[in-house]
This record gives sequence, structure tokens and C-alpha cells, in this order.
Amino acid sequence: MTQSSQDNCSSEQDSHKTHAKHNHDRCIATALNDAVLLCEQRGARLTQLRQRVLELVWQTHKPVGAYELLPLLAKEGFNSAPPTVYRALDFLLELGLVHRISSINAFIGCNQPKHEHPNGFFICRQCGNASELPALQLRELAKQLEASLGITIEGETHELTGLCASCSSKAQK
Ligand SMILES: [Zn+2]
Ligand SMILES: [Zn+2]
Ligand SMILES: [Zn+2]
Repeated sequence: MTQSSQDNCSSEQDSHKTHAKHNHDRCIATALNDAVLLCEQRGARLTQLRQRVLELVWQTHKPVGAYELLPLLAKEGFNSAPPTVYRALDFLLELGLVHRISSINAFIGCNQPKHEHPNGFFICRQCGNASELPALQLRELAKQLEASLGITIEGETHELTGLCASCSSKAQK
């Protein structure tokens, strides 16, 4: 199923690292490609619904709630019963293709699903875009805390909010 995302890729759209204008169609294409490869590797099946849910999560870099997906899927004739959609999201979560941002109970696509990494997000209060925090630095921080506090970290959720680089520079003008 192909799908145009042009309308959703406004000039506000942030890229993962630079938060600059970018070709968002490429983000979606890469995400789908990664999904196909990962499913092949794990012997999992990327059903039409799972693929469509992934595409819808990737419409923008703004986190999307499951309830927002239901009417969109219904309109396209999919089985949009909440448990069905939640199962599709669980599947994508398990493969690391999407992440859940727990503070706002919403999902974003992962642009590095091939590598397992600690979850950390920055969410911009102005434009609503979310980006992943650098995994390496999060792991360093966790290691330092383990050593200095004598704790064993078994799960990590880092969620920071504020103004993204592009909104910050606009605010300063
Ligand atoms: Zn993009
Ligand atoms: Zn990720
Ligand atoms: Zn922003």
C-alpha cells in the first residue's frame, strides 16, 4: 500500500537530528523498508494492518495516540476494533519499530529499529515533534549512575520536554 505523506510534511517538520526541513517521504520509505527486513529476520508477518499502523504512526514526527489511529483505519476499511489496533501496536513495539512515550501515552516511529537501545525522548511543547535522545549517552549515564549509586538499572525511560532546536531559534529572534 503506497501513500502520499506530502501534506503532512510541513516546513515545521523536524528531522531526527537536525530538526530541519527534510524529505519526510524518505523517512517513511526507510521505516517501511526496515520493517520488512526485520520481519523477515524474525520470521514475523507484516500484515496489511500492521504495515498501515506503522505508516500512520510515521505520518509525522509528532507522537500519535492509539485513539487517533482508530478513525483513520476505520475509514480505510480496516478492522479498527481497539484490541485489534492495540495488538498491531504491540507487535510493532516488540520489534522496536515504534516506541511508546509513556508520559503522553503516544507512539512514535523508531528510525533505528535494527539496534536495540534505551528509550529516551525529547518532546517539543511548541511544535509537538518528538525525537529520540542519543542512546549511547543514555547508556553512559545509566552506567555512571549504577556505579555511583550502587544500583542495578533494569528499565529506562527518559522523557524530556521543552523547545526543540528550531523552535528555540525562532523564539530567540
Ligand atoms: Zn521525517
Ligand atoms: Zn528508537
Ligand atoms: Zn519544536
